[in-house]
Amino acid sequence: MILLPIYNTLILPNTRVYFQTEDFKEVTNHEPTQGSRVLFLMEKEKTAPEDLDENSFYPIGVRGEITEVNDQGYVAIQTNNRVRLNDIYKVADQTFDFSLTRLNDIDDLDSATEAQKVEGIKEAILEFSENTPWGRDAKNFIQGFDSLEQMIVTASPWLTITNEERYHLLEIDSRAKRAEAIEKIMYEFSETAQVQNDAARAQQEDYRKLYKEQAIKKQLDYLQKELDDMHPENVTDIRRMEMRIEESGMNEDARKEAEKALNRLKQEGNNSPEYGMLYDYLDFMTSLAWRKEAPEKIDLKEAEAVLDREHFGLEKIKRRIIQQIAVMNLKKQQSGSILLFVGAPGTGKTSIGKSIADALHRKYVRVSLGGVRDEADIRGHRRTYIGAMPGRIMDGIKKSGVSNPVMVLDEVDKLSSSYNGDPASALLEVLDPEQNSTFTDHYMNVPYDLSDVLFVCTANTMDTIPEPLLDRMEVIRFSGYTASDKLQIAKQHLLPKAMESMGITKDMLEVPDPTIEEIISGYTMESGVRGLKNRLDTLCRSVAVHVEQDDDKKVTVLPEDLSELLDMQPIRHGRKLTETKPGIVTGLAWTSAGGEILFIETLFTKGQGKTIITGQLGDVMKESAQIAISIVKSMFPEKEELFEENDLHIHVPEGAVPKDGPSAGITLTTALVSLVTGKKVDPTVGMTGEVSLRGVVTAIGGLPEKLMAAARAGLKTIYIPEENIRDLKDVPQEVKNQLQIIGVKEVSDVLKANNILDA
Ligand code: ADP
Repeated sequence: MILLPIYNTLILPNTRVYFQTEDFKEVTNHEPTQGSRVLFLMEKEKTAPEDLDENSFYPIGVRGEITEVNDQGYVAIQTNNRVRLNDIYKVADQTFDFSLTRLNDIDDLDSATEAQKVEGIKEAILEFSENTPWGRDAKNFIQGFDSLEQMIVTASPWLTITNEERYHLLEIDSRAKRAEAIEKIMYEFSETAQVQNDAARAQQEDYRKLYKEQAIKKQLDYLQKELDDMHPENVTDIRRMEMRIEESGMNEDARKEAEKALNRLKQEGNNSPEYGMLYDYLDFMTSLAWRKEAPEKIDLKEAEAVLDREHFGLEKIKRRIIQQIAVMNLKKQQSGSILLFVGAPGTGKTSIGKSIADALHRKYVRVSLGGVRDEADIRGHRRTYIGAMPGRIMDGIKKSGVSNPVMVLDEVDKLSSSYNGDPASALLEVLDPEQNSTFTDHYMNVPYDLSDVLFVCTANTMDTIPEPLLDRMEVIRFSGYTASDKLQIAKQHLLPKAMESMGITKDMLEVPDPTIEEIISGYTMESGVRGLKNRLDTLCRSVAVHVEQDDDKKVTVLPEDLSELLDMQPIRHGRKLTETKPGIVTGLAWTSAGGEILFIETLFTKGQGKTIITGQLGDVMKESAQIAISIVKSMFPEKEELFEENDLHIHVPEGAVPKDGPSAGITLTTALVSLVTGKKVDPTVGMTGEVSLRGVVTAIGGLPEKLMAAARAGLKTIYIPEENIRDLKDVPQEVKNQLQIIGVKEVSDVLKANNILDA
């Protein structure tokens, strides 16, 4: 007799059961043959066939006989009676010796009652199975059931009862009791199946509705499009917006927000104030570029050529830009370190930003931050405000029409904070690569990815840029142009452009070099070339009139014509460098407009030892003045009375706002010494340096700009702090050739060299 272990399967006496031949072989390790006798024993727990042992089985089983081994891979077994396991002994894996006792059912179920019960269950099953896909096929099969046992054995795979519960059915001796138990299980089965069936049907119904709705919508859309194509003039705002949203390529979040606004737009009447606001919002959202651009590999040679095409000089800056492009190529990124261009106005900061965009084949957009005080200027207003607008950054993105423009943030040094929040911290978020992929403008109310934008910032000075912002950027200095740089810029760029824009050709106008040089030295006074550009524009406009009046005549502009053509007097470069008095000394200053020379004037007037300071002097400069006074008093104890009997007046006439007060220390001290000694200092001698109370000269900033200004103004000798000598490498050779530059350690060195203090 073959032992057939089963688990979670229901076997009862006098039933037909089927096994897959493969399964049979696996669990019994026997080839099934017709007529073989089998013993079904139920496992207590699911166990692998080779791990089964004497304790694996429940004590009651069923005997049966293989009635058929068919060629479709099934073994049919007819069971007969139940047995009790007396002894069992494991001989080898899957081989057991056992002895059995037959168990007889108590036949207390009369056949009429059984038939009635069978019919009842059949009806219940048929009722719910009617509406199932398998119901029709199963009908005959179900009709064919004649005993309760056969019925539940057949339904067994679908029953949700446990292995143990199945065994309990087998334990019952009384057929009447067994019938009751079977009935209970079968009705329960049909009830749960019914409920599941109903739920599935309801769900299906819902789905069907949904599909239908979608199909109708698609049809409607299609028809509407056909109509729109026929009459584009009739397309409504709403429909147009719908189409634009569709085509925009917005991400999930943005689309949801836009659709919300669209739905509200549909509800508002054309004339409601809300309508305009919602329309503007949708117009903005759909005008933004939402799709990413693929990074493009840039040819470095070509990029270099583009940079050279628009800008003369600026070699170091161009080299740095090319490096950046190379890194972007290597990393296949569209942005990289944020460059901050610092320099005086008109030195080419903004326009080279445009050239970077050209070199990268990308769109260019300029966002001016000058005078921004309100955080909302950067980050936008919430749409609950009347007149709410997006911030300047997103506005710039919209203008560029792409997601990866080169964005020049102009004048970051002119940001100021106010009670309306801190625009600098908002800007920080824009520039921070960690955060800017989800930059959320309040107006948009959904994040936008700024990570592909290449930001370039410009500023006149670093002093007013908040430290955290400065940390994000790499500073590149534009120190200004020398006179000969300016000549080249004028000849190669500014003049040809001015002529072209006024419609003047080469055979109408000639501007010889000396004339341009005269414009540079006599009619402008600047580090950059903005004034020069304006003068050349004016010149061309004036010339246009002459050319118009007498045809065919070529105009050659000579230096002496300039005053009339430019309609201005030459700029006097401050004081004439030939006249001077004791107490007046030439200093060098660095301002946000570049370098400048200034004359510090000092004077004693009858009084009681007060100090009066006038002119554009910051607090720091006032401190420098105090230090200078103390140094001079200690140097000339015998002149003490001068300070006691007089008031001292210090004045810095030029209107510019010196940014670096302390660097006037050396000039102030020299002027005071000149005043007390009554000895003049040559006005072509300039100086810059901070002075300590002990008279030690310490380093200053902005040396290239200051020296360029000195050269521009025609100074001859310049004293600078010894420590600054190393910075001379950043000063153009042309400027160094023009000036005699002397490094000093102590203020007395300057005084002695100029013969106002005895050696
Ligand atoms: P900034 O931004 O530094 O104030 P801009 O970029 O606006 O200066 O420059 C002012 C003008 O001078 C522009 O027309 C620009 O083309 C021109 N310019 C500045 N530097 C150069 C240069 N190196 N070569 C040619 N043109 C220049």
